[in-house]
Amino acid sequence: MIGVAIIGAGQAGLQAAVSLRQGGYSGSIALFGDEPQAPYQRPPLSKKFLSGEIGAERLELRPQQFFTENNITLHLGTSVASLDVSASEITTNDGKTHAFEHAILATGTRPRALNIPGADLEGVLTLRSIADVDRLRPSIAEGKKAVIVGGGYIGLEVAAVAKSLGLDVTVIETFDRVLQRVVSPDMSDFFAKTHALRGVKINAGEAVTRISLNHGSRVVETNLNTEYPADIILIAVGAVPNTELAEAAGLEVKNGIVVDENAKTSAENIFAAGDCTSFYSRLYDRHLRLESVQNAIDQAKIAALSILGTAETYDPVPWFWSDQYDIKLQIAGLSDGYDQADLRGDPDTNAFGIVYGKDGTLIAVDTVNQPRGHMLARRAIGKPLADFDWHP
Ligand code: FAD
Repeated sequence: MIGVAIIGAGQAGLQAAVSLRQGGYSGSIALFGDEPQAPYQRPPLSKKFLSGEIGAERLELRPQQFFTENNITLHLGTSVASLDVSASEITTNDGKTHAFEHAILATGTRPRALNIPGADLEGVLTLRSIADVDRLRPSIAEGKKAVIVGGGYIGLEVAAVAKSLGLDVTVIETFDRVLQRVVSPDMSDFFAKTHALRGVKINAGEAVTRISLNHGSRVVETNLNTEYPADIILIAVGAVPNTELAEAAGLEVKNGIVVDENAKTSAENIFAAGDCTSFYSRLYDRHLRLESVQNAIDQAKIAALSILGTAETYDPVPWFWSDQYDIKLQIAGLSDGYDQADLRGDPDTNAFGIVYGKDGTLIAVDTVNQPRGHMLARRAIGKPLADFDWHP
């Protein structure tokens, strides 16, 4: 019998194991991950790891010896195929069944598929794992043509790396501006200009309708009847949570595995953490599913504390970052639904911020190359907007 079976050996799964041991948990801990690598960090996959500035060893979250010393059993390359809630058992793809006292689901997300003809052609890639970078990297070479479908964080980060390495880069975005889901029009404009200045073509308001092969070369076709020949096609249109296991087990799932403020699912001894969860935020008065390192780490800590019997409430101020060229965007809070967005500082200096309010409350702050402003903002979210007097 396993004390705590952790399903998914990513950022949240690893953190849950670390926090259990740090909190004095003495039972057995087993971490099941379907990737071949020990837990690693994903943010550099679209940044310094993709550009080759850092190697795979720098992605590792803990060295091998950490797992041995802390008596954490790693089952790598092992997918959990089913979860039996009433029997408290999991079955892995090698046909083995493991009973557990507690389980933590930390299954993360996978790239959203683009439902158009040709999306499944060989060489049409997505980016979530080291294996994905291994597929992408050989084509990242000077003079090649990259077409990136999706102007979100990952699409723009890859565009920045590819442009810096001398590729011809086009980003196609269905919405009328990049980063539409997460920032205000002023910030979208800033990023569109930042890329355009370096020669990236940003085509917003255009939808990819088909990917085809023409005499062996790939071509991206859009609703504007434009054809873009491409050596690399990256689909970066968001992510969907890996909830099938939980759903099949009868756990409550609603755009993520539903957990309470203690990271507990609808089953008494099963917890969940990270990108795959949906939880009620008192701060924003709605259910959130966050995709960030902050959320994976902090919610996993809460899941571990709950198992240790010292439950704490999870009601975070979410924060995110994105690195593109020499620009660091940091976001504190969530800006959607804002009724006021104040530009502070001058975007032309590459050091400024946008402060978002709703009903007089500070709900989010985006900063560019202003780490101090970001740290102040993280402490001020949820407080009166008028009290946040930060300027770059
Ligand atoms: P993951 O790290 O995805 O781990 C889940 C693991 O579970 C995966 O290995 C998955 O294969 C495995 N798994 C799923 N189902 C099963 C199963 N049935 N059996 C066994 N294993 C299973 N966040 C930021 O805050 N800042 C950034 O700059 C940033 N950049 C990013 C760049 C990229 C390219 C990507 C992909 C993500 C980025 N993120 C960033 C998001 C961040 O990496 C995630 O929020 C974080 O990894 C979530 O951790 P997690 O443990 O929930 O999921």
